[in-house]
Amino acid sequence: MAKKKLPPVMTRAQAKAAGLKRYWRGTPCLKGHRAERFTSDAHCVVCTDQKFWAWYDENKAHVVAGVKAWREQNPKRHRLQRLRELPANRERMRQWAKDNPERYSQSCKARNHARRSRERNAPGKWTADDIDKLFDQQKRRCAACRVSIKKGYEIDHKQPLSKGGTNYISNIQLLCFSCNRSKGSRPHEVWLAERSL
Ligand SMILES: [Zn+2]
Ligand SMILES: [Zn+2]
Repeated sequence: MAKKKLPPVMTRAQAKAAGLKRYWRGTPCLKGHRAERFTSDAHCVVCTDQKFWAWYDENKAHVVAGVKAWREQNPKRHRLQRLRELPANRERMRQWAKDNPERYSQSCKARNHARRSRERNAPGKWTADDIDKLFDQQKRRCAACRVSIKKGYEIDHKQPLSKGGTNYISNIQLLCFSCNRSKGSRPHEVWLAERSL
């Protein structure tokens, strides 16, 4: 992780007066972190972060179960909350990925691995030949919008693997990039219905 540049040195009183949430007082904490302090309690932000994650690791199962229970009991509010938080979450993810390139690439790998193992467990298998045949059957056009896909296409599971779809060629279609992005992980029918709204 890249070393963060520290802001100019100031006292806690100055930070309070300036309405800052954190300040850098120019000296490391007892554990030697050259990091900012929280204006509220003068604690080192790195120590606080470490304490939080230690607590989280201890209580993870509990926290996750609690969140899950709330979501199940409040499905509508959960959906609304997610929609409301989507832009901010995306921005936060992007920033986090920038700040933690290694952990980001690791989490990508993990996600890909999960996807691959799901694919391995899904019944059925297609080959490059099957895709070639499909390409001709579709007359080299996107299965949804019929735009030419001669220059490139994406292999899509009509019924997503994550929703119990198979890996048989009958469940595969070739989409242009923009249709594939728009479809996401929705089943084909759901996507078509939503598109025609
Ligand atoms: Zn510290
Ligand atoms: Zn298309």
